[in-house]
Amino acid sequence: MDVISRALLFDGKALITVADITEAAGEGAKTHNMSDAVAQPFGKLLCAASYMSAQFKHPADRMTLIIEGDGSMGKCVVCGDYGAVVKGYADNPKARGKEISEVVGSDGYVSVIKDLGLKEPYRGYGKIIKGDIDSDIAGYFALSEQTPTALKLCADFEDGVCRKCGGIFITPLPGCGEELIVILEDIARNFKDVAAMLSDNSPARIIDMHFGHFGPEILPDIYPRFRCDCGVERTERTIKLLGRKEAERIIDECGEIGVHCEFCGKDYTFYRDDLNRIFKEGV
Ligand SMILES: [Zn+2]
Repeated sequence: MDVISRALLFDGKALITVADITEAAGEGAKTHNMSDAVAQPFGKLLCAASYMSAQFKHPADRMTLIIEGDGSMGKCVVCGDYGAVVKGYADNPKARGKEISEVVGSDGYVSVIKDLGLKEPYRGYGKIIKGDIDSDIAGYFALSEQTPTALKLCADFEDGVCRKCGGIFITPLPGCGEELIVILEDIARNFKDVAAMLSDNSPARIIDMHFGHFGPEILPDIYPRFRCDCGVERTERTIKLLGRKEAERIIDECGEIGVHCEFCGKDYTFYRDDLNRIFKEGV
């Protein structure tokens, strides 16, 4: 089962996160019928979104992570809701490429939007560094969030089946000095084959094996899921934003309004009768 285990180290000066999102990544790749070449960066990005949304404190918190490079995959968008509920898609889900960097590209940007219920959503940017996702996300954290997070991700797909997807994140928190960062980076260097580590051990066990001697404060586990929250009501709200005039114009022209959800591939169709319900009571 997918799980994210976390622990605080050094009196809360660092956070360790170990995520196994094999089922969620497999479900996401299957939903979009992805090639293994695209599923790999997609799985890693879902893992990053799981990690970021696992830190949310309020049920309405949400984030979007976009990577857009010059590789064959095009743009990839992943979203995370409170409790590591994730979803996402790639522009060209069937793209091919030998190396992950061929699929992602080497030139482009990483962008993050976090809606934490404040007046304005937080927006951060980074650049694609190597196109392997690991260094691109680490670069984003260092540059945009000023948090030099050490991370190692894995996403192993074979013939459309997710063998293992997950990652280890070491996050310095306020009060974490240079000395501690050096110790943590030293440990992070040992994490070479994360897929093998996750195949042999649970995330909680990995934390215990590598950080147990620091007396970690274990946080409650989080159970990530791949789920799209689209639905008829939500789609109707989108049509409402078009305005009645524009909606009627589309129906006059096409006979219907079709709305496609990029995240889960569902299609919603609305007809003239539906408009009376959507735009009821003088809205
Ligand atoms: Zn959907």
